[in-house]
Amino acid sequence: MQPQVSSTQRTTTPRKTRPSRPGSPGHVANSVVITPTTHAPTIAVGGALARPATVTLGRVMWPYVIGVGSYHLLALLAFVPWCFSWTGVASALLGLYVFGTLGINLCFHRLLTHRSFECPRWLEHGLSLLGVCCMQDSPARWVIAHRIHHQHSDEQPDPHSPLVNFLWGHMGWLFFENHATTSVGACDRYARDILRDPFYRRLDRKMFWLWVNVIQAGLFYLAGFAIGSLWTRTLIGGMQFGTSLLVWGVFVRTVAVWHITWSVNSLTHIFGYRTYETGENSRNNWFVALISNGEGWHNNHHADQRSAAHGHQWWEIDITYLTIRMLMLVGLAHNCVRPNERLLDGASVSTAPADLVVD
Ligand SMILES: [Zn+2]
Ligand SMILES: [Zn+2]
Repeated sequence: MQPQVSSTQRTTTPRKTRPSRPGSPGHVANSVVITPTTHAPTIAVGGALARPATVTLGRVMWPYVIGVGSYHLLALLAFVPWCFSWTGVASALLGLYVFGTLGINLCFHRLLTHRSFECPRWLEHGLSLLGVCCMQDSPARWVIAHRIHHQHSDEQPDPHSPLVNFLWGHMGWLFFENHATTSVGACDRYARDILRDPFYRRLDRKMFWLWVNVIQAGLFYLAGFAIGSLWTRTLIGGMQFGTSLLVWGVFVRTVAVWHITWSVNSLTHIFGYRTYETGENSRNNWFVALISNGEGWHNNHHADQRSAAHGHQWWEIDITYLTIRMLMLVGLAHNCVRPNERLLDGASVSTAPADLVVD
């Protein structure tokens, strides 16, 4: 067992308190446990929280500003009739699941960040490429920001707490350099397990993840061009159909997935109900759960971070978890971390959150 990154722990207080996890999956052996720090358990909604001290407002992340801005502008091409096709719309809707749910929720979040289950390495890499196609930075960078968020939720130095202000928590935090998430030390502290894999190091190095997105856009256009030109027997027909797949299947879908993911950071730390008193401001939000296929049960997730299931009640539908169950059924996922039974029963047990695990 390697040393703990932080020896202090967040204190949970009733409504329900967090019990220690009964048993743990085999892969937590030889692990570093990043535990949340202690702070006041009650935070008023809208309470002023300063931006992380590690953020330099003078250092604008121009590649992010230009990337996010240009994708939003390109997505507006959806309002141009020439760029429309029903196949394009269908590819955007299907893409919300394929890239957003499988790539971000299932892979970046539940698999890579929280190690909620295990799967064959080829499948993990494939799923991570789907996540990369969402333009949310490399897997390692995504994991670093999210692990810091769990360790310091709604307090310094949470990189994206909406208690600073809504816009900051939603997307503003992306546009300014934050030394806490970009330093070499952050990589070692929060993503050592990820970057041990040469595949993820390659994606991280020289921003190769960005080139994956360029290739993705090219494939969407070329596939549409080939089908459209064959179907209409004209070049212009191919260009029109290829453009519709590019605009809807890539630009509109990427922007939609962005705002869905960002809503988990912003809306579910402001609006919704709290099942567990977790010592920060996380909420269960049905609207975000609906559009994100399960990520909106965020208070449950903060209370039981390693659980693959974020829905704790029968009505808290979690499509992402159902997908993991399907993978288990066909033998492609195993060692799935189940919801903590004692937590579900509302047991009052003192906390011992061994939640964020870095192998
Ligand atoms: Zn999480
Ligand atoms: Zn959160």
